[in-house]
Amino acid sequence: MKKVYLETFGCQMNVSDSERVATQMSADGYEITSDETLADVVLLNTCSVREKAEHKLFTRIGQIRKSAADRRAAKPMLGILGCVAQLEGETLFSKSPAIDFVLGTKAVGRVAVAVAEVLDGQSFYTDLGEREESYEWSVAAAQRNSPYIAFVPIIEGCNKFCTYCIVPFSRGREKSLSASEIVRHIRHLRSEGIREVHLIGQNVNSYRPPTDAGLEPFRGATQFSRLLRAVAATGIERVKFTTSFPRDFHPDIVEALNENVNLCNWVHLPVQSGSNRILKLMRRGHTIENYLERIAKIQASPRRISLTTDIIVGFPGETDADFQATLNLTEQCKFSSAYIFKYSPRPGTPAFAMSDDVPAQEKTARFLELEKLIRVQQQKVFQSYIGRTVEVLAEKVSDKHPAQLSGHSTCQMVVNFNGSAEMCGKIVKVQILESKVNTLYGKIC
Ligand code: SF4
Repeated sequence: MKKVYLETFGCQMNVSDSERVATQMSADGYEITSDETLADVVLLNTCSVREKAEHKLFTRIGQIRKSAADRRAAKPMLGILGCVAQLEGETLFSKSPAIDFVLGTKAVGRVAVAVAEVLDGQSFYTDLGEREESYEWSVAAAQRNSPYIAFVPIIEGCNKFCTYCIVPFSRGREKSLSASEIVRHIRHLRSEGIREVHLIGQNVNSYRPPTDAGLEPFRGATQFSRLLRAVAATGIERVKFTTSFPRDFHPDIVEALNENVNLCNWVHLPVQSGSNRILKLMRRGHTIENYLERIAKIQASPRRISLTTDIIVGFPGETDADFQATLNLTEQCKFSSAYIFKYSPRPGTPAFAMSDDVPAQEKTARFLELEKLIRVQQQKVFQSYIGRTVEVLAEKVSDKHPAQLSGHSTCQMVVNFNGSAEMCGKIVKVQILESKVNTLYGKIC
């Protein structure tokens, strides 16, 4: 039996694709190994969002070659999958002779075909084609990252073309999956013991399937809010969704959360900048005013919904005043956490033609100032949980403290508490006693 080692870079969509590649490969008679030195086939599922991620790929390829040479072993067959593969295609072969095949973002279901072709003597094997109609979206339990949590893609690709982002080029246009299939899939996951599903996509709330099949009994202002109600009705215990696009964030999404306790109280809504001028240059399609309207709706919910975001600092043309506007907005929104990125030009995107005129030192200074503010805010939000009881899915024994379990609350905060391994997979009530950086601590009540 040939052994396959699979390594994943980047976002949840890639993690989710890799789970399905592993499922498919093991159904095709391959053994999935976590030890790359035992592998006959090494697959690298790549990310292209940042240029650094591409550099990392070539470093990894070098390490794999060197490791085989040091062991005097044959170099494993090497397949490059995902976003870098989609963007670079055949040119990857000239960048590294160690690569045996290249499969784009929608060809990941055909790894076994690629391996067979290479074994047959085919060189420079490349497949950047579309997903097959019969593509299997489910994942075998053994190949899931967590035995209790499952990622469920509901939409692929992106039509938004923000000027800094490569995703519409690497992942293609938006394509929504059928609601009836999503619901069927979630019912099946529930019967297998999954406690929490994450509906995933570049912009989940832009969900627009070609037909209403599966949504008929569910009312709502958008197909996404109807889908949320349909998924809630499966009875699965916890439903989270990410990422949401501000322009498409209809107030009815909050109504759906208010009506269904199993739709978790967490929204990730990337704002990217607090300045309308910069948002326009980014071509985000929203203004600060309409972003704040959405936040007001979320904050008015009786559910106490936690709010997280993404912010880019140092975008071309960002002045001190623009950055100050980002700080002001951050204070106003009381995010419980934020992913902050220093802008770096990405070849192939419209912003690449703009002058990257914020000096590196200034980008770092802005990053640190914003990070400090977010930390202060996070501590305020976390401290407001002290004395409260939250529901936590016990996911694993804590890496640092073996007598503790670690999991996430419904509002997506990491919570540690005393407990034993047999409690993993259970949803428990935890009273919060203490807060530290990024983590809440409590006891089961
Ligand atoms: S919405 Fe913008 S940032 Fe998000 S994936 Fe699409 S283009 Fe990229």
